[in-house]
Amino acid sequence: MYILLHSVTIVTLNKENEIFQGYVVWKDGKFTDIVKGDPTSNELAKVPEIINGNGKWLMPGLINSHGHLGSSFLRGAGDDLPLMTWLETIMWPNERTFTEETVIQAASLAMIEMIKTGTTTFLDMYHLAMDKIAELVLQSELRAVLCRGMIGLAPEKEQEEKLEESVSLFHNYHGANNNKLTIALAPHAPYTCPPEFLQKVVKTAGRNNMWIHTHLSETRGEVERHVSQYGMRPVEHLQNLGLFQQHCLIAHGVHINEKEVQILAEERVSVSHNPMSNLKLGSGIAPVPMMEKTGVNVALGTDSTASNNNLDLFEEMRFASLIHKGVHEDPTVTTSESILKMATTNGAKALQLDHVGCIEKGYFADFILIDPNVPHLHPWNEERIISHLVYSVKGSDVTDSFVQGKQLMKNREILTLDEEKILSDAINFLKTSQKG
Ligand SMILES: [Zn+2]
Repeated sequence: MYILLHSVTIVTLNKENEIFQGYVVWKDGKFTDIVKGDPTSNELAKVPEIINGNGKWLMPGLINSHGHLGSSFLRGAGDDLPLMTWLETIMWPNERTFTEETVIQAASLAMIEMIKTGTTTFLDMYHLAMDKIAELVLQSELRAVLCRGMIGLAPEKEQEEKLEESVSLFHNYHGANNNKLTIALAPHAPYTCPPEFLQKVVKTAGRNNMWIHTHLSETRGEVERHVSQYGMRPVEHLQNLGLFQQHCLIAHGVHINEKEVQILAEERVSVSHNPMSNLKLGSGIAPVPMMEKTGVNVALGTDSTASNNNLDLFEEMRFASLIHKGVHEDPTVTTSESILKMATTNGAKALQLDHVGCIEKGYFADFILIDPNVPHLHPWNEERIISHLVYSVKGSDVTDSFVQGKQLMKNREILTLDEEKILSDAINFLKTSQKG
């Protein structure tokens, strides 16, 4: 069925970066027309469903390329700690007490937060209840890449079980819901995955044609320990182990040098830049301008709410732009366009998603509407929208969300998940865990 949405200013993010007042038409989840101006009465008579955009901005839905939904209930549980202390004293001990129900409730919370702040696609790396999370993704109608996070520091039998779980998740859900859900392999990090385990991951990836997502070089200490243990830096190590033979997306890449950036560019490895999590954990600042100059595809991610502490990619874009200008003492090292692409088209490439990330004929109708009728977005015209999207829009300005043509949020009301119940589950979790 054709659906037409009119009276919007369209931020296409296509090759020409066109922005214009117009209307869009979609059918079976894909745009069939992106047109300047207003539809004629003849055109309107032909389509069964018409939506009035009421002067809002229409842009591609945002893509969050790295997160851990299941730990969302740990938001605010441990501030001001370095990564390893935080993992060992807050994250891992708490996660050991999580039931499957807790993980599902936490993931639901993350999903409604993402929908309400303009994210239409996300990647989740988590180690508990991934099949249940897959079912939740289908219900939410979001686009997602799920990966069963695997810590390889374990007896061989346990390693095999984790790999089997990843592969069965792939067989059961890869391509589900008209390809909205896809599955990748996720060894947690080189410091938690010995080389023999990473080699098994590479074999599994090759056998099943799966791509690989992993944390890499997040802290200086982790890289130093890696060099003293293996005699080489992590990027070369992963290259030698064959991890880059398949498509690979690394999260963080904070402590990587020029030579490593060169390798990532040559091997076409994508990087998920998570500036707020890196700042909060005091990990450092990734050399993003160098990566972009060298041709590395840089996407944007939030990491979990335990280290961010929110999933608002608009806020993440603003940080991503500002920190690099500040540390380089040079406002030209990032542009608003390049930052916006990190959260859209680059994200699609990083997550191996075709026809996602811009508003173009033949692309999937994954988009959001933003209400510009607020003081912090005034004055505006077509020339200023990109700047406003990076520096002034807040996630809460997003009013409507569509994925593959299906509406997930209408005037800030979520249509696919029960927001009221999800919020009350979150409060109850804290009440119950305090009692315990
Ligand atoms: Zn992470």
